[in-house]
Amino acid sequence: MDYLDNTKPVSLYIHIPFCTTKCGYCAFYSLEEKAVREGEKERFLNVLMRQLDALVEDLKRPFHTIFIGGGNPGIIGYDNLYRILKLASRYGKAKECTTEINPETLNENIAPLFEYLTRISVGIQSMKDESLITLGRNAKKETNIKALNLLSKFKNEYGISFNADIMTNIPGENIQDALNDIDEVASFNPDHISLYSLTFEEGTRLIESCVPMDEEEQRKMLISCWDKLESLGYHQYEISNFARKGKECLHNKVYWALGQYIGLGPTAESSVGYRTIISSREPDSLSDYLVNPSFESVKLKGYEAEEEYLLTTLRTGTGIDKKEYFSRFCEDFDEKYGTFIQKLDKNLYEDTDQRFCLTREGFLLLDNVILSLAMAI
Ligand code: SF4
Repeated sequence: MDYLDNTKPVSLYIHIPFCTTKCGYCAFYSLEEKAVREGEKERFLNVLMRQLDALVEDLKRPFHTIFIGGGNPGIIGYDNLYRILKLASRYGKAKECTTEINPETLNENIAPLFEYLTRISVGIQSMKDESLITLGRNAKKETNIKALNLLSKFKNEYGISFNADIMTNIPGENIQDALNDIDEVASFNPDHISLYSLTFEEGTRLIESCVPMDEEEQRKMLISCWDKLESLGYHQYEISNFARKGKECLHNKVYWALGQYIGLGPTAESSVGYRTIISSREPDSLSDYLVNPSFESVKLKGYEAEEEYLLTTLRTGTGIDKKEYFSRFCEDFDEKYGTFIQKLDKNLYEDTDQRFCLTREGFLLLDNVILSLAMAI
């Protein structure tokens, strides 16, 4: 791949586009099992394996990190996940290798994958049956508990680290419900917790059946949840991500630093190149992908690349490294953004000679801050 910088690490993302059933809030591209045509999963796997084989041979070195996401990767079966990981690790194991698995498909048969896997990410979302119904999740509280128990066991016996996704701002919940969810999930000792605010996306069942919480309530709930997670020893290293020390997700850090990653599978995105950002997207449906899996790459214009950079780096706790900014864009950060930063409320950011990053108040107003700074581009 001539557009890859061969002196820098490359990460791999694989999108498995199948789900048991479609969650009520989900606007991602994925197919419910019952909508998958006969032989389609096998054809998908054949195309994916061919594409991966070509990439692995092109690269001839280990991936820095691997992340298999979905959908629910558990749907294609652990034997197939093993084949994918084995192929991706032909020239050596990745430093971190994660798969997402939904609670209903997690079981002991995953153990052979631990030859390659270092991490599992599970979508818990809520520990209340009523809320799981509101969200249209497939799993019940009992399924979530079983999955969390199993993950604790894998952690203790095999050293596999794990993440649990939790959702806030679920209609019908109050702050105490959200805090109870965090306490309950944390009692299984995950290394990492991703806390997402429920969003109401066009075209989902949720938007037709529920009304979002009042904005001020949402803000209060989020801050209480952030405080709770910090008090339990999970530090916020990105707006929605919390980890025990040293357990941050390396793969996500590659995204946020706009590092190099290749995405395979329908709707997977890639980003390559350090000085200029090149974004590419695969065809956005399974049928398109099966016909033509190759992705189109688009070289972002200077201002687009810089906007992308602000959007991703300012979500992180470390924010913008001014030296790194200079080496990427050949401009002095303070000279370019100084006057716009001065117009911001001082509670929203921290600005030193080395870095510019947002405070929690800044995270809550992230979109406004980005809009103000983008005036400088
Ligand atoms: S399991 Fe994940 S990808 Fe599938 S429908 Fe639910 S939220 Fe969407």
